[in-house]
Amino acid sequence: VAKGRSVGVVGYDPRDDVNTIERLALLGDLRRALSNDELYLVYQPKISLVDGHLGSVEALLRWQHPERGLVPPDAFIPLAENTGLIGALTRHVLDTALAQGRAWLDAGVPLRIAVNTSARNLHDDEFDRTVRSLLVKHGVEPSMLILEVTESALMADPVRARQLLQRLAAQGISISIDDFGAGYTSIKQLRSLPIHELKVDRSFVQAMEQDPGEELIVRSVIELGRNLGLTTVAEGVETPEALVKLASFGCDTAQGYVLAKPMPATEFDRWRAQWRGL
Ligand code: C2E
Ligand code: CA
Ligand code: CA
Ligand code: CA
Repeated sequence: VAKGRSVGVVGYDPRDDVNTIERLALLGDLRRALSNDELYLVYQPKISLVDGHLGSVEALLRWQHPERGLVPPDAFIPLAENTGLIGALTRHVLDTALAQGRAWLDAGVPLRIAVNTSARNLHDDEFDRTVRSLLVKHGVEPSMLILEVTESALMADPVRARQLLQRLAAQGISISIDDFGAGYTSIKQLRSLPIHELKVDRSFVQAMEQDPGEELIVRSVIELGRNLGLTTVAEGVETPEALVKLASFGCDTAQGYVLAKPMPATEFDRWRAQWRGL
């Protein structure tokens, strides 16, 4: 227990210490996991609602902890973000995903790969160089890479983030705004960013599936994306009805359990071999 703190002090909750210790333990484990092969990627298809074509996949990180079992990314990514470990983590994800992209290219399967980034990556002035060197390492064209950037990460330091995104986009990398609609990006800001894709936040897609009265937000975001000339993606689609509806709204691409769950590469390859379109 920290010096000067005791139970009963206003604002102090002994559970905070337990959480802190727990988080520190997890963080130590995560550092080890990076070099121990406990981290792996799963891939989820992003499918065209126009023709059912599989054009890209999103790489999602998984941690198979030796004692805790599968730790969800929501439990360790924020931890990595708060401690600076995220730089190494994102680098590892990019390295692994691009190696997989290279393997797909060699197998005659040109799949574009989307990788998630964090706020810290957008405030790292070396990040564009890191990405470029990994593309070169794997012999993958920049146009094969999509970087997903959340709205909230952009807002932390919009000017700096915009400069970095401009350098990445100038290389030929596509930028996608993830979880769109949940934050406060203005249309003016959106227009000033070098972006190619807008992903409608999962919460809106799911609200629409539960209550058709909620579809207004989804429709509006799709329309906004279209008007700005961006590719629109709906994520977290779970029902065939929602797929039909999204297509009728003019949404370009869908991603969700109704089409396919995120899968390790070998399982993904089996899924792809039998995919016959919508
Ligand atoms: P996200 O980028 O918004 O990813 C979409 C999440 O929705 C994934 O959760 C995916 O498994 C899940 N999902 C996909 N389809 C469906 C569906 O139909 N229904 C439902 N209920 N969920 C669906 P996951 O893999 O647990 O990842 C959670 C978040 O963790 C991601 O949200 C992203 O913010 C973060 N994350 C995952 N991998 C990475 C990574 O490599 N780097 C960074 N920086 N963040 C990552
Ligand atoms: Ca994402
Ligand atoms: Ca998302
Ligand atoms: Ca999210």
